[in-house]
Amino acid sequence: MSHRPIKIGMMNKAERLEFRKRLQQNLLESTSNADRVRESAKPVELDQNRVGRLSRMDAMQAQAMAQANSQRGQQQIHLIKQALLRLEHGEFGDCLECGDAIEAARLKFDPATECCIRCAERNEKR
Ligand SMILES: [Zn+2]
Repeated sequence: MSHRPIKIGMMNKAERLEFRKRLQQNLLESTSNADRVRESAKPVELDQNRVGRLSRMDAMQAQAMAQANSQRGQQQIHLIKQALLRLEHGEFGDCLECGDAIEAARLKFDPATECCIRCAERNEKR
């Protein structure tokens, strides 16, 4: 006996509106985070006279971290925008890989998620 999650098409209007509200909030937060991170991800000035070798490495490490953060932030913004589009087109909640409904609890945890738990686990094992 296989457990089939409830199709998200059964979601009522209030639930869809709630998801949209959360996604728009997340988008605002991610966008303002990205603006802040962009500042710290600017290239380090490698002035040998001004900074010693160690502090230069610190600066480069901090910059690399900031760049990774910035990339994650951009990725998150992209995911949220895609989720909002799917919501507009009535495709929200469908797994992008297998087309099954994404578990409701998973969507509530992260409305921008793109695939169901089975596909996510399969991807992790890859
Ligand atoms: Zn799937």
